[in-house]
Amino acid sequence: MREAVEGVEWPGGADVCVALTFDLDADVGVGWRRLEERLTSLSEARFGATRGVPRILDFLERMDLRATFYVPGEVADMHTDLVKAIVAAGHAIGHHGHVHLYPDRATATEQRAEIEAGLEALDRCVRVRPLGYRCPGWELTPYTLGLLDEFRFRWDSSCMGDDRPYVERHGSASLLELPVHWSLDDWVYFIFTRDGGGTMLGPDALKSTWLLEFESALAERRMVTYTMHPEAMGRGYRMRILEQLVEEFRARGNVWFATHEQVTDLIDARAGAEGQPNGGR
Ligand SMILES: [Zn+2]
Repeated sequence: MREAVEGVEWPGGADVCVALTFDLDADVGVGWRRLEERLTSLSEARFGATRGVPRILDFLERMDLRATFYVPGEVADMHTDLVKAIVAAGHAIGHHGHVHLYPDRATATEQRAEIEAGLEALDRCVRVRPLGYRCPGWELTPYTLGLLDEFRFRWDSSCMGDDRPYVERHGSASLLELPVHWSLDDWVYFIFTRDGGGTMLGPDALKSTWLLEFESALAERRMVTYTMHPEAMGRGYRMRILEQLVEEFRARGNVWFATHEQVTDLIDARAGAEGQPNGGR
């Protein structure tokens, strides 16, 4: 059962809401312990931390943008200063597992450990208690959704049941969903691996798709979330695409670039004003 959150008035009279989100998978996303004998694959993953994030932070500051970074707990352990820099720059931090286990391939015990260890690591390393979650590998399970409810998370960003914010429900668990889609994820355009191949499309494929989706969101006055990975989007020529896209967005309308936390605050405040307990969920 799903209900869309409709008719949200964006702050400042904005016509559309854009959320730029980055999944900081780095060494952990590829399972660095399994890659200790494969230095090339491991080095590409680490590029996201060494080059991607600094470039992205410079870009966000220069363009006066706030973004949401989903960070696995072990990445916070391994790259603590980098994650501290993200927090210090005013960006939102979301939970992205601990060692980036895919919930649908993990036992219930492992799923619980991913949530608990990720929370502990982000608290220990950067003193952040994330209130939003993005599922590694984008296959949320009923058990993990229940854990998000149990640990009082306020939003999830892993499902695709609408292109507007909506309430994702399963059994007695429910959570505000800030939806994603594979076509709005840089991974499918840019990542090539020796094991799995890939498309490695030219820059125009991503740019034209993301711009058309923005135009649709603008016409419908809705929100759109773009998902990026520092090891993918953080390459030099791809950052040029991202900058061109932001300029194109701004030329077409009054855009509210918001973190997922800001959007959740707005939606929950509106639900509260309408007298719906717990944001209507
Ligand atoms: Zn990830």
